Amino acid sequence: MKTLQTHVLGFPRIGARRELKTALEAFWRGATSEAELEAAGAALRARHWALQAGAGLDMVTVGDFAFYDQVASHIQLFGCEPARFGFDGAATPLTRYFAMARGERSDCCASDHAAPHGSHALDMTKWFDTNYHYLVPEFGADTAFTLAGERLLAEVAEAQALGHRVKASLIGPLTFLWLGSARDSGFDRLSLLEKLLPVYTALLMRLKAQGVEWVQVDEPILGLDLPQEWRNAFEIAYWLLAQSGARIMLATYFSPLEENLGLACRLPVAGLHVDGVRAAHELTSVCDWLAQPKVLSVGIVDGRNIWRTDLDTAIGLLAPLLDKRGELWLAPSCSLLHVPLSLADETALDPEVRSWMAFAAEKLDELATLKAALAGADAPRLAEARAAIASRARSARVHSDAVAARVQALPDGADRRGAPFAARQALQRARFRLPAYPTTTIGSFPQTAAIRAARAAFRRGALPLADYQSAMRAEIAHAVARQEAIGLDVLVHGEAERNDMVEYFGEQLDGFAFTQHGWVQSYGSRCVKPPVLYGDVARARPMTVDWTVHAQGLSARPVKGMLTGPVTILQWSFVRDDQPRALTALQIALAMRDEVADLQAAGIGIIQIDEPALREGLPLRRARWDAYLAWATRAFRITAGAAHDATQIHTHMCYAEFNDILPQIAALDADVITIETSRSDMALLDGFGEFRYPNEIGPGVYDIHSPKVPDTDAIECLLRKAAQVIPAANLWVNPDCGLKTRGWAETEAALANMVAAAKRMRA
Ligand code: GLN
Ligand code: ZN
Repeated sequence: MKTLQTHVLGFPRIGARRELKTALEAFWRGATSEAELEAAGAALRARHWALQAGAGLDMVTVGDFAFYDQVASHIQLFGCEPARFGFDGAATPLTRYFAMARGERSDCCASDHAAPHGSHALDMTKWFDTNYHYLVPEFGADTAFTLAGERLLAEVAEAQALGHRVKASLIGPLTFLWLGSARDSGFDRLSLLEKLLPVYTALLMRLKAQGVEWVQVDEPILGLDLPQEWRNAFEIAYWLLAQSGARIMLATYFSPLEENLGLACRLPVAGLHVDGVRAAHELTSVCDWLAQPKVLSVGIVDGRNIWRTDLDTAIGLLAPLLDKRGELWLAPSCSLLHVPLSLADETALDPEVRSWMAFAAEKLDELATLKAALAGADAPRLAEARAAIASRARSARVHSDAVAARVQALPDGADRRGAPFAARQALQRARFRLPAYPTTTIGSFPQTAAIRAARAAFRRGALPLADYQSAMRAEIAHAVARQEAIGLDVLVHGEAERNDMVEYFGEQLDGFAFTQHGWVQSYGSRCVKPPVLYGDVARARPMTVDWTVHAQGLSARPVKGMLTGPVTILQWSFVRDDQPRALTALQIALAMRDEVADLQAAGIGIIQIDEPALREGLPLRRARWDAYLAWATRAFRITAGAAHDATQIHTHMCYAEFNDILPQIAALDADVITIETSRSDMALLDGFGEFRYPNEIGPGVYDIHSPKVPDTDAIECLLRKAAQVIPAANLWVNPDCGLKTRGWAETEAALANMVAAAKRMRA
């Protein structure tokens, strides 16, 4: 007798129409009550459980819902809200929750995640290698844990009352501690494990008493390079949790287990979930090592991408596992939080491209079809799935001979500039004759309500193209005039015509498709709608030349052309799974290289290629960093490689830990790099100094995330710090990042002070 069960590790919670965003923002505005917000949450949960049950899943997952972030929910569940918030007894749990997430406001500030007064929000950082951001727990020696939150238990009861068979889900104790930060340096988060485990045990017992058969406990850190103490701690921790009597499905994902495979298989739990997409090669070993009667859950449907599963291949992989074990659970590789909710309303997508895709709801159907097919039952959707896979494999929309030929014929030196940096620098200095400490900005100027309204009207068809274009040209002229008045040395056109730095290019390149509702939660109520890169990438015509030339025509000072780099376009899109990411990056690089060439030919002497996502593409395992960095930096260099020696290539990266990849950043060989440093008080620059970073650098001198206008003294002080670390002749002066989220008044005031500080440095 063979047993197959289907489940998910988590489901998107934002809602098909981003209902959660609407509900949250109304509540934050004060327009709705807590009870109304709770009702909106309950309605979403009920709908998402109904989708899981309706698709035929054997259980629904409870505990994946959160009003802001699942890690923040665990902070409250385990009663370890940082004392610095100083909550008095009167604050409701939700008030405290949003204070942690968004900061405590003593004034009314519309911008999210900033608290001008009161306690600042918890830090946010990326959830493993996804674009989801979680709130970082703060741990110290005095951190205590109690089973404080009743929310999870209440949600379990809610699902049970709706008649569902429930699997509860939790972040595991080791992953929870790993994700936190130590408040005091030298404090070891792992030392808290002893205090944390009894609370987990108590919770597991409560869940069991409530009739929950299975508890999914997520330990994705088993896919990371773990220090030995952390690996050891797993054995003790799970031995203790086993005493609760709960049946634990230990969930791992995002990464192969490698040296932790034996450990994961050995732990005293009732089941193990592994990522069958990113670690398909480990399935046989896991199957051998995982002793019966432990249950193996295979994450066979890609939870990180939007393509249909090749069900025949999946069946070929799963059938022998099922034969060997007799019981198998089928699931997506990881939580479906990282994909959009449903294709049902995507009416504008090209039908052929759409037929190749599966969002969360469609992935549920895939699980049901796989289960039926493996059980030898009727699987009516299998034929349709096969046809879609076949159509995608041979479609002329996907494969372009011209692109393949160009990649084939790429000459060896295509990723190198003509002359070494020193020679280029001399040529560029003679050409641009910029003062010492040249001033510039990162690209965007305020995206005002008027700009957004014009774009919305244009997209609706209410504003003719010619009118839209002249409105944008006027905005560009305004930005150029303001920059001249402020006295900046290298100007930008301001990016008024761009909705988003990736979408703008994707919309003009072959190989990209765009959804209407394909939203994915980034943090809190914020979502992104990544483009879908489905085919070979090519550029039909110039994408930025007209706007840039228009701007250059308005000023005698150099105007910097502004492009998004190949790695960032790749990283912020859903990309093909039918060829290596490296090849997709190379195709994008070639398309962007043509844009560099065209800008240059049109007389644009300075071109910036933004790569804010370069670092976030780093694989989770160190051993794979070099391979990634080699192709990623090459993609950048191929784009930049079209530039003549006298053309100055800039790049820009946002706040990131650069120190461990400085050789590769230097290998980009950009003539100028601008980075975000003001929030670290220039400390981020130390690494560049020690490394003797050879090319020019613009360390950001003020934080653009805050509306506060920095004063000239403060900027000058930062510049003096920078000049101690970097040769003054190589220093540029610029803000941390683009200015699109700011208003004009504060932008002009801030830039005027920045220019004044640069002048003092020259004097
Ligand atoms: N050029 C872009 C801008 O100024 C860069 C944005 C970014 O780094 N994320 O908006
Ligand atoms: Zn930036």
